[in-house]
Amino acid sequence: MPFLSYPRALELKNELRETNAEVITMENENYAEGISRFSSSCEKEAGAIVRVTSTDEVSKVVSFATKRHIPFVVQGGGFNTSGSSSTFGGIVINLSKMSQITVDPGAKTVFVQGGAIWEDVDKVSATFGLAIVGCTMNHTSVGGTALGGGYGWLTGRYGLIIDNLLSARLVLADGRIVTVSMTENPDLFWAVRGAGQGFGVTTEFVFKAYPQTDPVFGGLLYFTADRLSQIVHFANEFEERSTGIEGFLFGFTGSLLMQETVVFVVTFYNGSRSAAEKFFEPILSLKPVVNEIEMMPYPKMNTILNRAAEFGGRKSLGGSNIVLPLNVKSVEEVYRDFDTIMKTFPRVSESFVVFELLPYIELIKVPNEATAFANRGKYYNAASIFRWHDPELDPKMRSLQQDMMNKIGRRAGVARSEEMNQGVGVYANYAGHEANATELFGDNLPRLQTLKMQYDPDNVFKKWHDMFLHTSVH
Ligand SMILES: Cc1cc2nc3c(=O)[nH]c(=O)nc-3n(C[C@H](O)[C@H](O)[C@H](O)COP(=O)(O)OP(=O)(O)OC[C@H]3O[C@@H](n4cnc5c(N)ncnc54)[C@H](O)[C@@H]3O)c2cc1C
Repeated sequence: MPFLSYPRALELKNELRETNAEVITMENENYAEGISRFSSSCEKEAGAIVRVTSTDEVSKVVSFATKRHIPFVVQGGGFNTSGSSSTFGGIVINLSKMSQITVDPGAKTVFVQGGAIWEDVDKVSATFGLAIVGCTMNHTSVGGTALGGGYGWLTGRYGLIIDNLLSARLVLADGRIVTVSMTENPDLFWAVRGAGQGFGVTTEFVFKAYPQTDPVFGGLLYFTADRLSQIVHFANEFEERSTGIEGFLFGFTGSLLMQETVVFVVTFYNGSRSAAEKFFEPILSLKPVVNEIEMMPYPKMNTILNRAAEFGGRKSLGGSNIVLPLNVKSVEEVYRDFDTIMKTFPRVSESFVVFELLPYIELIKVPNEATAFANRGKYYNAASIFRWHDPELDPKMRSLQQDMMNKIGRRAGVARSEEMNQGVGVYANYAGHEANATELFGDNLPRLQTLKMQYDPDNVFKKWHDMFLHTSVH
């Protein structure tokens, strides 16, 4: 792909001269900041970065690019680790200045612009005593997470982020601005809920909000590896005991603090301390080495993991799934595999693998075919973020991670479940480009492809996951 030429960049600036959009090119001081991403492996030299401030400006940039066949990407929080919000030589539509949040307390709805981050949504909603389903790590952006499905601590109670999406405003490939909801453009609304990144630039969302009584019970615990079997036993009973107001994450990470690979646990209980302590008693009695549990406001709960995933270093996010009950020996084997990686490679200790027990009670009330999101079933996500520093390790770390996630899926996931015909078992927002469209969207793919032919026939929105790419590359 040719790098955006100087005359083209001038033309773009000229096109936007009467707007508030800022066009940043290589000679500008803030260019380095403009191409920085969560994973430094995704920092690519863009031809131009456009910091847009309105839907009309987005429409102008999309039309400018598509008419001239210039590739462009959309950047929310920049957390994608397969490079889908980066471009070498093309145009980045940076949504960070579109971060307005407005609450309608009477209607219990929250209006969010496409570039807002969850942290701000959590804070603004809380000032009205409300909360919406958002991300467990709230430095991520609303756009990238919501459009692919979206899991959070409130998922057990209210479902996915998209299950609480009432309407959205989109700029389509031809620059048209449309509103989508159950009554307006319902076909596109179906697609946006789970595959929205492939259909346009979403500049506005309206979400359903719920009264939230703070504080909630939550925090991080570290254990030595000898506690793992008891933690797995607790996980195996979680499903029977959960009423949907709890969340339980556990996994492994390298720890400089303890000089070994530790088992971490994150607890969440949307209720009183006494009820929470009763629920998590089997875990709390295991004598954690570090215990950061406290009663805290819901917005704070969504910040406690942010420090585990900060910008910097090369990274890869990978996903799989698990079905309960877990086999203790299989989980111990994952621990050993992960521990070996931590001991073998330099500066990888900030990596982690996590099993995410966010109750699926509400999530599976919606059929897989009701939205483009096809990952609904009686199972949970497993995820990992591998972090390293040496670019020469890129292929090695990615393949080790892929092997680990595949193994988790094979040994503990829906592949071994009798309920095979449920969800696809891959969360598209956790998957890299190793997963193909059939794996991600299952039976929903043909409908998505038909809609793509209608709304994006040239497939300009293909960098998140290409809906016409069927062939598995692994
Ligand atoms: C540290 C970390 C924590 C995470 N926590 C959670 C979690 O709790 N729950 C969960 O469900 N997922 C979680 N994820 C996965 C997350 O949903 C994806 O990584 C998501 O892609 C991040 O979106 P972003 O906008 O921040 O990143 P970006 O890289 O900016 O965007 C990701 C993709 O979405 C597209 N995009 C972004 N905004 C828009 C928009 N407004 N319109 C159209 N396309 C857009 C981009 O073009 C890109 O293809 C987490 C990921 C990380 C790395």
